[in-house]
Amino acid sequence: MVRRVSVFGATGSIGQSTLDLIARAPDSYEVVALTGGQNIAQLARDAIALKADVAVTADEALLAPLQEALAGSGVEAAAGRSALLEAAQRPVDWVMSAIVGAAGLEPGLEALKHGSTLALANKESLVTAGGLLMSTARQHGARILPVDSEHSAVFQALVGEDISTVERVIITASGGAFRDWPLERLAEATVAAASTHPNWDMGQRITIDSATMFNKAMELIETHEFFDVSADKIETLVHPQSLIHAMVGYQDGALMAHVGPHDMRHAIGYALHWPARAHLPVERLDFAKIGQFEFRDIEHARYPAIRMAHDVMERGGLAGAVFNAAKEVALDVFISEQIGFMQMAVLVEGVLDRLLPDSGLIDATMSLDNVRAADHIGRTVALELAATI
Ligand code: NDP
Repeated sequence: MVRRVSVFGATGSIGQSTLDLIARAPDSYEVVALTGGQNIAQLARDAIALKADVAVTADEALLAPLQEALAGSGVEAAAGRSALLEAAQRPVDWVMSAIVGAAGLEPGLEALKHGSTLALANKESLVTAGGLLMSTARQHGARILPVDSEHSAVFQALVGEDISTVERVIITASGGAFRDWPLERLAEATVAAASTHPNWDMGQRITIDSATMFNKAMELIETHEFFDVSADKIETLVHPQSLIHAMVGYQDGALMAHVGPHDMRHAIGYALHWPARAHLPVERLDFAKIGQFEFRDIEHARYPAIRMAHDVMERGGLAGAVFNAAKEVALDVFISEQIGFMQMAVLVEGVLDRLLPDSGLIDATMSLDNVRAADHIGRTVALELAATI
């Protein structure tokens, strides 16, 4: 059966891995929409190669270059936010949500409203608006499949099980660039040092978010929102090899661990073929060569983001939107060398403390407008606080 698919964020790392899998079986897919941002050449090349119906750039100013790159190909060109939303409304069986940042939320919601299965890589959607995303899916009978490797691992460890028998969900973390540094040296960690990941080859922002564990904090909140598991059942474990992506512990004491290579095509492929398991072009692990798995407890003094994630899960409401906004600003001002490495956590915590207790943000309705407002307030307060650190 030929499946109609769209890929949002097609020019990015996850998008390109998704297109790699689609391109290996061209007769199995009809590509409807591919979207990108600044990388017009890549977007046009892929849209032509995969015979997409439409290619959309989020940047309106890039419509003319996109039209030029697609001239004579038969692929429609479109640009801007409304074009992205229109593309998300086109009926398809499966949509990859791999736009980076808060811009990924709305196209995902539109796809769910039109009943498409949403393969969700965009972390911000669940962190900032988990309740809205999950209720939109329920209301429209649409399905969300996780793509982040940890959530795909939990999802796979839950197959055939009753969620009410789950005692704990353990999300593993590599520990990031500074896991072996003495604590007292962390304050001097530079942007260049924080931008090198021990296991994964990723962009600068997510690599720094791994060193602080703000990335892991986002994943804990995603776990809570997606699987509806309470914060007290979600644990974080440092596992430097990053081969076990997550474990699910059941009330009979059994632990189901998901082990897989460092290749996002595994989780993407699982979501693409779900509920089937298709052949995937990823490395087969050799346990004899790996030798041993190492685990360490989380040191909260090294990774204050983990404690903050639990705080956010317990507060609920729009706390996730404020948290995400504050951590984005903290990262911006760290990269521009206005604040030090450990001050990112101080800044985010300062925003949460100042904004959440009596702000009404916890009880506010989970609507797109309120998520945007919480994001705006979070960023504004974070910038104010950054200037005083
Ligand atoms: P990239 O930065 O590599 O790609 C982001 C994509 O979004 C690109 O197609 C980019 O276009 C597009 N884009 C950027 N800004 C906008 C905007 N304002 N509006 C619309 N499109 C935009 O990110 P990744 O592929 O690494 O990650 C995508 C999402 O998946 C993120 O939320 C990330 O946290 C999550 N994720 C990533 C993992 C990974 O291993 N990379 C693992 C798990 C989750 P262009 O490049 O053309 O400008």
